[in-house]
Amino acid sequence: MEQIIVGVDVGGTAIKMALITPDGKLVTKVQEPTPVAQGEDGILQKVAQLADELLCKHGYAKQQALGIGVGVPGPIDSRNGIVLQAVNLHWREPVLLRDKLKALTGLPVAVENDANMAALGEMWQGAGQGAEDLVVITLGTGVGGGIIVHGNVVHGINGVGGEIGHITMTPGSGSICNCGKTGCLETYTSATAIIREGMQAAKSGASPALATVLAEHGEIKAKDVFDAAKDGDSASLAIVDQAALYLGLALSHLAIMLNPAKFVIGGGVAAAGEFLFSRVRESFARFVPFTYVVESTEIIPATLGNDAGVYGAGWLIHSQLDE
Ligand SMILES: [Zn+2]
Repeated sequence: MEQIIVGVDVGGTAIKMALITPDGKLVTKVQEPTPVAQGEDGILQKVAQLADELLCKHGYAKQQALGIGVGVPGPIDSRNGIVLQAVNLHWREPVLLRDKLKALTGLPVAVENDANMAALGEMWQGAGQGAEDLVVITLGTGVGGGIIVHGNVVHGINGVGGEIGHITMTPGSGSICNCGKTGCLETYTSATAIIREGMQAAKSGASPALATVLAEHGEIKAKDVFDAAKDGDSASLAIVDQAALYLGLALSHLAIMLNPAKFVIGGGVAAAGEFLFSRVRESFARFVPFTYVVESTEIIPATLGNDAGVYGAGWLIHSQLDE
């Protein structure tokens, strides 16, 4: 009997779900708005209902489903399948996600933090393939991270392992971060940070190119800053150089601690491509003391895009089969 895995990525705006074969092929995927206003029970019922519909639509009986892997945006007690909190879902108290979803679906459930799940997805079917030691970083609204050592996600005692965005880059200075501190990597390298700096450059007159974008579109996107930098706008180039400098510096710290084979970088900001990656590699090489580490460490783009999460959710169930 053909078997199938359900992979789910529950975000603040959308629930993404995919059916994935045990050997990692994505069969189909759907996306629906997350009913955040309906609370944890409403969200979990939606997940269960979507899973039933998707399996049925593609001709799978319930007993062919090996389990549901679920990623959520928040710290996890992975051993007990508990989400400690998930601000974007308005879950302020711990949610017994594994047990509740198991009761709703009758299927085995595995739970993971969304950034860690994306890291597992890239390891299994994306840019991390072949590596057992890797760090996956997502440069989006914030800066997410997942650390994998010997094929296992590093959680730590509070589920905070891999929260790379909150490494302090500039003690005592820099912008205020969502975490309440100042000068975190996220305040330099996220799309939010690049947009904030771009707005400043537009309004101060430092960047005529970005001032034009702002006047024409009423907003500035991270891509606008990269495009202006590529066209030689010096203020935009300084923003990109600063983002790359701090990201490379953070990666150098991680390389000394973990010595991974690969740093896989995804998210909207990574779409800037080689223009960004070459600068990050340059910064990394500047701060890593050992030439052979610089040479052996790949700093490469993620390849799964928005599907990394559902692949990782699939891997959660897949990995339990191997045990
Ligand atoms: Zn922070």
